[in-house]
Amino acid sequence: MNWKKLIPWGICGCLLLSGCGQRLPVQENTNTERHEATTFAMDTIMTFAIYHDDGEELLIDTEQEIRRLEQMLSVTVEDSEINQLNENAGKEPVKLSEDTMALLEAGKELGKETEHCFDIAISPVVKAWGFTEEEKHVPSQEELERLLPLTHLEDLVIDGTDSTAYLQKEGMAVDLGGIAKGYASDSVTALLKGKGVESAMLSLGGNISAIGHKPDGEKWKVAVANPLDDNGYVGLVQVSDCNVVTSGGYQRYFEENGKTYHHIINPATGYPADNGLLSVTILCKSGTKADALSTALFVMGLERAEEYWKNHTDFEAIFITEKGEVIATEGIAESFTLENDDFAYSVVKRG
Ligand code: ADP
Ligand code: MG
Repeated sequence: MNWKKLIPWGICGCLLLSGCGQRLPVQENTNTERHEATTFAMDTIMTFAIYHDDGEELLIDTEQEIRRLEQMLSVTVEDSEINQLNENAGKEPVKLSEDTMALLEAGKELGKETEHCFDIAISPVVKAWGFTEEEKHVPSQEELERLLPLTHLEDLVIDGTDSTAYLQKEGMAVDLGGIAKGYASDSVTALLKGKGVESAMLSLGGNISAIGHKPDGEKWKVAVANPLDDNGYVGLVQVSDCNVVTSGGYQRYFEENGKTYHHIINPATGYPADNGLLSVTILCKSGTKADALSTALFVMGLERAEEYWKNHTDFEAIFITEKGEVIATEGIAESFTLENDDFAYSVVKRG
């Protein structure tokens, strides 16, 4: 388990940053009672804070929904639907539930939209690097060349009428690590809103879903982590009814021969993306999209990512570069405040 991922960069009504584990805002000045729970699921720490009279019950519903999805989607659950799909690669299509189908479809679509910078079929390459194992290492060029043809999304065949999916080539495998938490976040958000929740803050391993406003009517403040400082943050962004998701190379990595290798792979090369970005934060109504795009735009690099944003209107982004720049897209510039003098700040515009 990776403690770096637990750094509390996410959430604040009143910002709290320290030690291990995520913290939620302290009690707001309000009559609505705050109900909070922390759990370990999908290989990460999750924290939920719900302002509602039935909060305790809703916390149980939230956790149950996450566990239900985890059973289907996780590769660490032995007979999960995704493992069944992977085990039948090159053999036969597998019947899948509605959620798994929806997530595979979303993953494939976002893969196409991002010109395969996001690739849910990247698993064979991720495994070759040992990112799913204790021992990580740089794979040989021959091994990567052998595995890269097994990562093509066209070979993931999804049949909506049959509710089946099929990995056409033996050795292919799906890895939803870059999107499943976002999907789970959307699922839980819909569930809570359906039960009348108007104010809640969910953190699924740093994937934030801010539901409504804080009970005092203010927007939620979310801290954007400083990739160069485990406990620091570069600034705060104010949001309501929004998902905030960050991908970066600073969270999971290893060193070999003095060089650092992180866990976000450029599907074009089979190597960790290495293009001058330290992190990408996406703000989007959809958690699924926010999760996939944070990974995809990190792979794209700044120039291409800015171009992608200019051609899409349903998300905003904050980029942090190796040169010490923080770059926010126009649509959230007003809600973002830089809080760290070590970084130079600029805004990218559509025009
Ligand atoms: P995290 O889940 O660590 O917060 P991401 O959402 O960026 O970060 O997802 C990274 C995970 O997604 C990796 O651990 C790996 O399982 C998988 N992955 C790596 N590269 C890609 C890629 N280019 N497209 C899709 N998934 C990827
Ligand atoms: Mg992601």
